[in-house]
Order: sequence, then structure tokens, then C-alpha cells
Amino acid sequence: MSHRFQLSLSLFGLLGSLIACSCLLLTIAGCDSTETAVSDHPPGSDSEQQSQRANTDASIVSDATTKLQAPLGNKEDVTFGDSDSQQQNNRETALAQTPSGERKVAPLPIQFQGPAEKAKQLKVDSERLVANGIRTVTGKQLILHTDLPLDDELRSLPNLFEEAVKQFCTYFEVDITKVAQWQVRACIIQNMEKFENAGLLPQVLPKFQHGYSLGDRVFLKEQPSEYYRRHLLIHEGVHSFMLHFFQGAGPPWYMEGMAELLATHQWDGEQLKLRNFPADKTEVPFWGRVKIIKADVAAQKGKLIEQVMQYGSNAHLNVEAYGWSWAATTFLDQHPEFQKIFRKHAEKAGDSSPQFSLDLIHGYGEQWSKVRQQWQLFVMNMEYGYDIKREAIDDVRVQQYAQLPAQQSIQVKADRGWQSTGLAVTKGMKIQLKASGRFVIHQESDAFGKEFTDWESEANGITIQYYKGNPLGKLLIAIDNLNQTGVTGLVSYAAIGAGGEIEIPDDGVLYLRVNDSPSELHDNRGELDVKIMLMAQN
Ligand SMILES: [Zn+2]
Repeated sequence: MSHRFQLSLSLFGLLGSLIACSCLLLTIAGCDSTETAVSDHPPGSDSEQQSQRANTDASIVSDATTKLQAPLGNKEDVTFGDSDSQQQNNRETALAQTPSGERKVAPLPIQFQGPAEKAKQLKVDSERLVANGIRTVTGKQLILHTDLPLDDELRSLPNLFEEAVKQFCTYFEVDITKVAQWQVRACIIQNMEKFENAGLLPQVLPKFQHGYSLGDRVFLKEQPSEYYRRHLLIHEGVHSFMLHFFQGAGPPWYMEGMAELLATHQWDGEQLKLRNFPADKTEVPFWGRVKIIKADVAAQKGKLIEQVMQYGSNAHLNVEAYGWSWAATTFLDQHPEFQKIFRKHAEKAGDSSPQFSLDLIHGYGEQWSKVRQQWQLFVMNMEYGYDIKREAIDDVRVQQYAQLPAQQSIQVKADRGWQSTGLAVTKGMKIQLKASGRFVIHQESDAFGKEFTDWESEANGITIQYYKGNPLGKLLIAIDNLNQTGVTGLVSYAAIGAGGEIEIPDDGVLYLRVNDSPSELHDNRGELDVKIMLMAQN
């Protein structure tokens, strides 16, 4: 933490910097896609979770008197990091510390048809293909050439692609009849030389690492998992589709983020589910986007959503940019309050300039402060199976606590993330909380996955399992001020459990939740009844 990132991302500042870079536009050929396969099996990744579970109750509150601390330092001057290992970090949280090179706004790509047209003109000579050991599988929407021995998986790819295209049409609201004549020619390449000799590589195709899309031609190098091979095919297919039907794919974060969002899938050979949020790393071997976010956040390199939107055209030479772009599009697409505006914005995908992102931010209006708040929660607590819907914070009318009756009663649902009490508190106030009730914090299944046993909890939580250093189910409290542009106060919570007294450290709104992983809310049930008493104004 020696070089703290000075956060100056007021909306105005961000808009200014985005506008300023619009004069730096350069043209690049086609769509660069250098998405790297990421191993999702790092040494020691399991022990990370175990240490979370094994943490003893490091609760920072006693039942008697609790003092909620404000995040250290100015809220505008903070670092973004994971707070798993040290309870102190629960409250001293983190904001992006972007490596200096990445903070510059690099030129954005403009799609243009030249190379794609040239690629299209390349004639395919079937005799030359056969002579070079290249096999062809043809479907309605996909012609596939590969030098790999054909197996059922490879033979199924045209069906997969046809199904994917149907889902692109539904998602982007493109009339299905328009794709009848649209076809992508894909090469899955083990030995580049064979494809050169067969005349399948257009001269305009640059050297690429993993996948490359040139208009309706896509090129993939063979990947270490069948999952990731399909993922890249769909990813490049999204680029081709957007370029064809929108004449562009938006700025880099959106172009790559949409390709990642749609390509992250489940496929059983017949049924295809795009826009899948993987529940587990074994679902998506070598995909690794969740790992990227967790690693960056742990290394104090977490990003605000506006920083992701500022990726330049070169940013995606690094695989990290794919992780962050996936996170941004996935968050906005799956959040119940934010998805409508985000999805509608696809109609502007022809605009690859920074104006695209500015318009999106403007489209959210005052809601943008909520996007920023909940984005931080999302990336700070990134997990496989992160339940964006249950973690979404419902709107509650905010009222000044000082003007309301001193005793308030609030219900805290066990199956949701942070919940606003609607009580605006001010620095120096003293309040007392008392929580009562029982709820289900987990359902344990037997060895056959059939019989379920409820784990019941009260407000102090259960000490058989811990999450982020606190007992599962323990009542947490935080104060957040949406008008502040720095780190959300929701990452500087305290564990209050069954009750205690709190001195309010900062102006803001009081939030409550029970302690649980964002991927484990679905099997919770019931609620806590929390009585709040205003003891003193300041
Ligand atoms: Zn791409």
C-alpha cells in the first residue's frame, strides 16, 4: 500500500477524461481478440477458501458497545483490496490502484470493413484443404475447418453455433429471418502451416495468440479444454454478429465484455445456455475470469466500473481486461435494476467512441451512484455463483432518522445481501440495536444430494462455518453515503450480532444484512427482526 491511488473519479472528472480522448482515435484492422486461456487451478487456491472458513471469530464488535469506524483516511483516498485475511481490512477497504500505464486512455478501435472484405474474397479450394489434412464440417450458420481429428464434440459445433446465433438474435432483438443468409467460416487450428498451405489464412490476418475475428471469418488456435474452445468460437462469433448487424461493437470494454458475457455458457450437446454465471470453476475449465477479478482485488488493483469503461484498444492484449470487461457487462446485464438500460444501449453499438459509455452513464442518471456502489460490492466479493439478483439492493425511501420516532423496527431478510433501512444517520449519533428471530442460513444435503438439513441461526451467527472472518449468519451493519464518489461504505461493515451500541462515524444511510457468501444466499430462509433505538443525536 505504499503508493495509494488518488481517487478523483467524480463523474465530472471521468466524463472530462473520456471526452478528452475522443480526439485520439486510431483505426485498427478487424477485431483484435487475444483472449488467453487461464488455468483455473492455481496451486493453493483451495487453501484460500479454507483459511476463510478456519478464521476464528475475529468479530470486531462486542455485545456491549460497538464503535463503527469510518474507512481509514479520506474516502477519496483509498485502496481497493480483498479483506479476507485480516479483520482490520474489513473496514479499511480498498479502491483501484491501476498500474500507471493502464490509466492512460489509449486509442479506441474503429471497425472498418476493408480487411473483412478482403478476407471474404479469399476463395476456398476444397481440394487444397483435403491435401493438407483439413476437414470441414458444415452447418446452417457455421462452416468449420480444422486439422484436428473429427470427434463428436467437433461435429457438434455447427449445431452449437446455430443455437448460439438464435440466442444472439433474441438478446439483441435482431429478426431471426435476417440471419438466414448469414454464415461464419471458422478455422480451428492446431498446425498453422497446414492452414497457410491450404490458403485459408488471408494476408490481412495478423499474428494472433488465441482467437481472431475478421468480419465473417474467425480463426481459433486449439485450446486446452473443449469448454474454452467452444467459448472462443462463440466469443468470436459475437464479434462477427455485432459487426455484421450493428456495423460495430461499441468501445473495447463493451465489445469484449459482450463477447465474454454471451460466450460464457453451458452446453450438454443439445441444450445451450449463454450468459451463464458459472457456479463452479469445473464448469468452465481455463476460462478464469473470476480468478482474474479476485486476484486483482487481492493485489489492490480493483477497478471502478468507470475505469473498465476507459480501456483502450490495446488493453485487451492483457487477459485481465477480458476479466474486467466480462465483469462489467455481466453485472449490468444481470442486475434487476440496471439491466433494462444496459440492454437497450446495445442499439448504439455502432458507436465505438467514448461517447457510447458517456451516453450509458447519462442514461442511468442519478441511479449511477447505485451502479458504482453495487459494482464495488460485486467485484470485492467476487465468487463463482455470485447471486447478482439476491445481492441487488432494493430501493427504500430514505428519511432523516432524527425526524422519526426514536424506536424503529426493521426486518432483515436472510436470503438477500445488503438491505437499506432507509434511516439517514449523522456523525456522532448513538444508536442501539437489538436483533431477534431465527432463520435458515444454509441447507446441507446428504451424500445423495436428497435429504436436506436446515442450518438455523440467530443474529450472532453459527460458528461451525465462517465467511470473511465472521460466523455465518451474524448480523452485519454498515453506513453508506451514495453522494460520496469514493469507496462504498458497505465494504467497511461491522459485525454487530444480537445487538450493541454504535456511535455513527459518518453521515449516511444505515444498512443491514446477515453474513453469508454472495453465492450462498439461495438456500437461506426467514428474517431477523431488528429494533433500532436512537439514544443521542451527537
Ligand atoms: Zn474478442
